[in-house]
Amino acid sequence: MRNIVAGNWKSNKLMVEARELMVAVYKGVSVDGLTDVILAPPAPFLSALVLEAPENKSISWAGQQCSGYEMGAYTGEFTASMLHSIGVCSVLIGHSERRDKFGESEEMVAMKLRSALDSGLTAILCCGENLGERESGGHFTRVMEQLKHALHGVSEKEMEDVVLAYEPIWAIGTGRTASADQAQEMHHAIREFIKENWGEMIAGNTRILYGGSCKPSNAGEIFAQPDVNGGLIGGAALSAADFLAIVDASDQSLRETH
Ligand code: PEP
Repeated sequence: MRNIVAGNWKSNKLMVEARELMVAVYKGVSVDGLTDVILAPPAPFLSALVLEAPENKSISWAGQQCSGYEMGAYTGEFTASMLHSIGVCSVLIGHSERRDKFGESEEMVAMKLRSALDSGLTAILCCGENLGERESGGHFTRVMEQLKHALHGVSEKEMEDVVLAYEPIWAIGTGRTASADQAQEMHHAIREFIKENWGEMIAGNTRILYGGSCKPSNAGEIFAQPDVNGGLIGGAALSAADFLAIVDASDQSLRETH
């Protein structure tokens, strides 16, 4: 199975800089690599970047979020179908910054996931506990609750278009990373959850990414874990050199296990 390394540029860069970053990433990603690279720039740049991007079957584009509603009177929103119509392949759903800073409830996350799948996008569903939940030992319960809510009613077939991203909130943008063991333990629990609900084959085929201060110096160790299938990268995705080094670490981890 191929890994995924996805770069979440968050609310950073102006158009000229976004274009420069895209060009540098495209230059560095081999078409024959073992990793699917996904770029999630700010929404205003998506359409232009998708059109300008050179051909590279290893790279595709994602939205950082989408509306949970269909088209209509929702000022400021954009739908999953709109993203799909401009050549975007996937969308982040339920990123902790959306949940915490923009009040996305479990219900809203589930609506967005449904909308993404119905529009033909791959949903990259983010889950993860906060520091208090981790320290009180409630992290597994929290993550499984998030998955239960968001994935309720998702069919076996639809699970082919779901990627999961475990992102402990205490590790996002903090420079503090989950240890490889902590990541593996949670990824394994997530895979077991998928197995219980959709069966062994789907569990084995679902890619589970780690996110949270992932950088060139720690990516190799994290990606070497058996249940980690790549990463969702924030800060380090803003530098082409760092991001490409993480893509290399992903390719390397797959070469070592084949
Ligand atoms: C993220 O925003 O998904 C993320 C993982 O950020 P960072 O890599 O900066 O912690």
